[in-house]
Amino acid sequence: MRPSILDPLFAPATGLAGVGPKIAKLLDKLLGTSEGARVVDLLFHLPVNTIDRRHRARIAEAPRDQIVLIEAQVVEHRAPPPRSRAPYKVLVEDGTGDVLLVFFLANHAWIEKALPIGTQRFISGKLELWEGHLQMVHPDRVVDAEGLAQMLLVEPVYGLTEGLAPRVLAKIIGAALARLPKLPDWLAESRAKPPNLPGFTEALAIVHHPPEPEAISPNAPARLRLAYDELLAHQLALALTRAHLRRTAGHSHKGDGTRSGAIRAALPFTLTGAQEATLAEIRTDLAAPERMLRLLQGDVGSGKTIVALLAMAEVVEAGRQAALMVPTEVLARQHFESIAKYAEPSGLRVALLTGRDKSAERTRTLAALAEGAIDIVIGTHALFQESVAFHDLGLAVVDEQHRFGVHQRLALGAKGAGADILVMTATPIPRTLVLTYFGDMDVSTLREKPPGRQRIETRALPLDRIGDVIARLQSAIASGARAYWICPLVAESEALDVAAVEERFAALKEIFGPRVGLVHGKMKGADRDKAMAAFAKGETQVLVATTVIEVGVDVPEASIIVIEHAERFGLAQLHQLRGRVGRGRAQSTCLLLYKPPLGETAKARIEIMRESDDGFRIAEEDLRLRGGGDVLGTQQSGLPGFRLAELDVHADLLKLARAEAQNIIATNPRLEGARGKALLALLHLFERETAVKLLQAG
Ligand code: ADP
Ligand code: MG
Repeated sequence: MRPSILDPLFAPATGLAGVGPKIAKLLDKLLGTSEGARVVDLLFHLPVNTIDRRHRARIAEAPRDQIVLIEAQVVEHRAPPPRSRAPYKVLVEDGTGDVLLVFFLANHAWIEKALPIGTQRFISGKLELWEGHLQMVHPDRVVDAEGLAQMLLVEPVYGLTEGLAPRVLAKIIGAALARLPKLPDWLAESRAKPPNLPGFTEALAIVHHPPEPEAISPNAPARLRLAYDELLAHQLALALTRAHLRRTAGHSHKGDGTRSGAIRAALPFTLTGAQEATLAEIRTDLAAPERMLRLLQGDVGSGKTIVALLAMAEVVEAGRQAALMVPTEVLARQHFESIAKYAEPSGLRVALLTGRDKSAERTRTLAALAEGAIDIVIGTHALFQESVAFHDLGLAVVDEQHRFGVHQRLALGAKGAGADILVMTATPIPRTLVLTYFGDMDVSTLREKPPGRQRIETRALPLDRIGDVIARLQSAIASGARAYWICPLVAESEALDVAAVEERFAALKEIFGPRVGLVHGKMKGADRDKAMAAFAKGETQVLVATTVIEVGVDVPEASIIVIEHAERFGLAQLHQLRGRVGRGRAQSTCLLLYKPPLGETAKARIEIMRESDDGFRIAEEDLRLRGGGDVLGTQQSGLPGFRLAELDVHADLLKLARAEAQNIIATNPRLEGARGKALLALLHLFERETAVKLLQAG
């Protein structure tokens, strides 16, 4: 249960002054809080910039074109004649000079009230010279001495959404700040933390009411404090999760090599050095009595599947079952087919379990699993549903790991007491991110690709060259080639997206007739499978698709991929998509069709795609271009996004947070005493409740 001291932070924002139903809706839109913004969400909405009004100057000495604050006397009002579109002007002076304040489409009553003749006023804005006279168009603040005392001289600037005025949001955030309770200091006894950090509450006050503009820069102490707290909460949650998994004793899996030997003997290739090396690491873990928790990362096409299969075979030899979980039906079916084929000579009993199985078939599979009549099961999320019981699960392999949330991984692990866990990802993850998302999970990396792979020729063309592309496709198709044609998902409207794909499909059908197939996420599963199968068999040669084919789909004969609106895809996604070709012997081509003009980032992305096919380099570049979250496509990934930390700036903090999390687990694994209580509050503050639950589960 959440400590009650945090209640004010998790109270709905609607309880704050100024937040009615209309504003509440805008806040939800701004903060992405579909279930209603809370006080904490407002507090974690950090300013992106500041307006500095500290510069006070006399009119004669004031610099031009930057914000200054002048103190002046109101001398004269020059209201425009009725019905004129001329601006309302007010003359003010301070003894060194005078300035005309200029208001277009002015509210006369407001001006008369704010600037009565003869009064002293503090006026903030930019001075400029206009026809030989100093003027200030639309001063951004006009206050008297009392108003000045209340004004933030360094004003935070927040990201906004349409309809939400800056001052309204600032006021609401100010109100949220006033609700901040006094919290225990979870860092008081930290051994690994940066020096001279303010307290958490103080840090929030500083960033929302910055004493100077530098106070909100990501490297300022207050920002470091907030980022560190968030990273510590995350690393501590990971460490607790891992400790929990480790606490359930594992099994020692030592095979006799009969099954894996038969599989190896029948392979049409020999394993690469990298594959052998990672397999050796995995086998060492399997043989050890502790539970394995290993991440196997390797670029698309690096050959992870066979490594996973040999690991699963080893576990079956040792008398237990293995499961492989993948994120989509299409992928489950594909893996099932290739694994069943590889496994055949070994006599392993391989089954498929998806959410779409017919009920009789499903019942049979479930019974066989429970009896131990199935050695290896391959499936989607369906695998960790409650109705699925294993006879004796020894190894859970989770492919394309980043698509699953932490809790899903855990749920599969929980299917077998002490089952070893191997997670695989095709998106090479830069080192910093491995630490971030997987904590101290052991990592194996496949850097070498199987021999004979050819570089994929990658070209970028503006959309208006689509005619050339189609002509080229026509001649390739005539000589038997197979091609993917990818249309983007714009997420705003799935219906529109599907319409766009269907339209492209119809247009290509005009040209290629029945050789064109279509797959997209809104199709019925069975229709999608049929379309995929037809393409795999070569019955269709052009497959129009959305990104449903992004992950893992393996049709080695496909040698062309056209990506329409390439500028809408992230770098990692482009790389994944391109990885659908270049899997066979033919020279492959990737055509990136873009809509000009390209923005800077889109241009850089396309440039990197043309230059490199090294997934690790691409992932690093992606991190650099877009900041941490997007490398893995946080949106679809279920990975925790960070609200306060910025991974590209705070990578060092991450290391400290990780070290501190380890200190904590080593000295106070059950989070007891005053420090433990403070750390529990930290976990709740950043909503890492799952980890807290594990702590209670023992
Ligand atoms: P990943 O899952 O890592 O993207 P896969 O396991 O699907 O890659 O392997 C990609 C392709 O490479 C498959 O067609 C597979 O049969 C083939 N392959 C795997 N290992 C080797 C190897 N050592 N030599 C040649 N081909 C291989
Ligand atoms: Mg794969």
